[in-house]
Amino acid sequence: MTELSRIWRETEYRYNLIGYKCKNCGNSYFPPRDICPKCHRESIGKMEKVKFSGNGEVISYTVVHDAPPSFKRQVPYVLALIKLSEGPVITAQIVDSVEEKIDIGTKVHMVFRKIRQDGDSGIIEYGYKFAVN
Ligand SMILES: [Zn+2]
Repeated sequence: MTELSRIWRETEYRYNLIGYKCKNCGNSYFPPRDICPKCHRESIGKMEKVKFSGNGEVISYTVVHDAPPSFKRQVPYVLALIKLSEGPVITAQIVDSVEEKIDIGTKVHMVFRKIRQDGDSGIIEYGYKFAVN
């Protein structure tokens, strides 16, 4: 499979915050799961794909000063645990904001930003990050 088709295949998941909701207990999960960790066998066949609103709030955060090479240019940046309005907690980078604006309870929303660019092919991959409301 080529790099390009792989990206196309993942596009739905990259451009939307897609998770699964268990129709048995109503809990939502991100990233998507095949089986609800609460209902186990009873959730089989009852996991439904849902698109999250992208709204949430910061429940914990850290300022990253020492990043892996591909993120070096962005240092320092804020990495936060975000509780989505639908319930799941995800880890994501906060963009376009200075750390003084971030606190526990800060309302954020999802935005799409360039994650990486493939130098040879020119392919640009986008992914989700979060911005302060
Ligand atoms: Zn469940």
